[in-house]
Amino acid sequence: MNDLSVLREWWPGAGRAWLSRLIDRVPSDCWLCDTRTRGGHLCPHCHQSVVRSRHSAANRCSRCCLRFAASRKCPDCAFLEPAFDHAIAAFDYEHPGDLLVGQFKMQHRFILSRPLGALLAGALHEHRAMLPTDPVVVPVPASRAALRQRGFNPAGLLGRHVAAALGWRYAPGTVRRIDGPAGVMAQKYLTRQARMRNVQGLFQCAAPVQGQHVVVVDDVMTTGSTLHAIAVVLKNAGAASVTGAVLARTPAHDRQQPA
Ligand SMILES: [Zn+2]
Ligand SMILES: [Zn+2]
Repeated sequence: MNDLSVLREWWPGAGRAWLSRLIDRVPSDCWLCDTRTRGGHLCPHCHQSVVRSRHSAANRCSRCCLRFAASRKCPDCAFLEPAFDHAIAAFDYEHPGDLLVGQFKMQHRFILSRPLGALLAGALHEHRAMLPTDPVVVPVPASRAALRQRGFNPAGLLGRHVAAALGWRYAPGTVRRIDGPAGVMAQKYLTRQARMRNVQGLFQCAAPVQGQHVVVVDDVMTTGSTLHAIAVVLKNAGAASVTGAVLARTPAHDRQQPA
């Protein structure tokens, strides 16, 4: 059934909700443990395992959602005050949620966007008190190289599911990525300072956002430099607020690159 749910991604708009309800009742295998479940979702046990990090009592920055250990101040916000107002993550980028992100992005299992989108929508719903009532959902645009490699934009699929689940407007294309002729380095290979330089001038606002509350969706947030760069262009274009909504937030101690 996990393969059957691919139908839902391509079904014409009018019948998609009906098909979605139907597929939700069809038995399927949990993506992490192969237990029988329904609708291509995680089993309840694995769902709890993935979101457990979100509810941990560890230090977590109320601004950028970073989990950090011994520092008294958030190292990311101390390095640079973010241009976004808040960031919300569905889970920390660690086991077992990292396995799902890997299947989704590296193994190109784009049908995982539904259970992962549901996890992110659940986290946003939990934090609804800090969110505006009627925001617009904007995905982080993928680079041309990443699109060629994967064939889809993970942030785009997540954003569409989040918007549908929460009844928000989905506006892909609001932020445009300006890839140079040689492209830019993938962020994951760069140090923190290099990440900041790498994304400066990389994005532009391509639609009116004056006075709007924007929720920017991405898959993984490491240092927050991409979200910061996008928040800068959205705020410069007049956005009333910018909230980051990310599937996974890399805890400070898990980074391969120096913070
Ligand atoms: Zn399971
Ligand atoms: Zn912070």
